[in-house]
Amino acid sequence: MPDVYVIPLTTRFRGITVREGMLLRGPAGWGEFCPFADYDDRESVPWLAAAREAAEQGWPEPVRDRVPVNCIVPAVGPQRAQEIVRASGCATAKVKVADASGSLPEDLERVAAVRDALGPAGAIRVDANAAWSVDEAVTAIRELDRVAGGLQYVEQPCRSVEELAAVRRRVDTPIAADESIRRAEDPLRVAVAGAADIAVLKCAPLGGVRRALAVAEACGLPCVVSSALETSVGMAAELALAGALPQLDMACGLGTGALLTTDVVAEPFVPRDGWLPVPRSAPEPVLRDQVPAAPERERWWQERLARVDALARG
Ligand SMILES: [Mg+2]
Repeated sequence: MPDVYVIPLTTRFRGITVREGMLLRGPAGWGEFCPFADYDDRESVPWLAAAREAAEQGWPEPVRDRVPVNCIVPAVGPQRAQEIVRASGCATAKVKVADASGSLPEDLERVAAVRDALGPAGAIRVDANAAWSVDEAVTAIRELDRVAGGLQYVEQPCRSVEELAAVRRRVDTPIAADESIRRAEDPLRVAVAGAADIAVLKCAPLGGVRRALAVAEACGLPCVVSSALETSVGMAAELALAGALPQLDMACGLGTGALLTTDVVAEPFVPRDGWLPVPRSAPEPVLRDQVPAAPERERWWQERLARVDALARG
């Protein structure tokens, strides 16, 4: 019974082509431990806390039984972008921009195509994953906002909290903080610095559903729940967070199951007409034998788990 899975992605995403992680079982059910390879042991401690919360404790009662999600448009051409939007049935599209330097002309084409496919009532958000300088961000956001006929928000235009605040002062488009929250020593600094209008929350890097709910309350910003590209086991925790947030006004970034070529559960969380259900526990990972890791990856993850566990226990 391998605990480690290796799943190829359908499209290169966040610089990776394969998703790896570990499934943990406890009295409350299954949890997923899947910090990205570039996260060090210290940064991986909250990921383990999130997996343990799912496996040992379970999640708080939800206040809604389903949540709207956005479709994801990677750095593809305009035609493919429209196909993705139309096939999804989602009313909100999240479009990847700034995937390569000098990509603004293609980004503008992609966003215009998405607006065409989505219609005037849909919402478009873009994610730059911290690729721009302040000046680049200001120029790009104004142009993208124009071709989109209004952007819902731009996610993480620049790297630092100070840069986000500087961009925010110069554009009217709302700014969402993602990396600034999940990789920060202090997630609340974003709100205090006036760096964002919206907080993107992921319970895996924040240490679980309860901890993410506490961050939401403390930061006082409207929140968007997003995935960390988990299988449906880890996705269940993100859905539990989205289900338990007192206020949820915007679509969640939880349609990422479509980026995995397969999943570890029999009925993966794939959005239907732009919605996903809020589960009470993670689904059973019955298909994990079909996505086995090579022995050296299995060993790498077991050793990582042991080191992170030792750190977590202090
Ligand atoms: Mg993001």
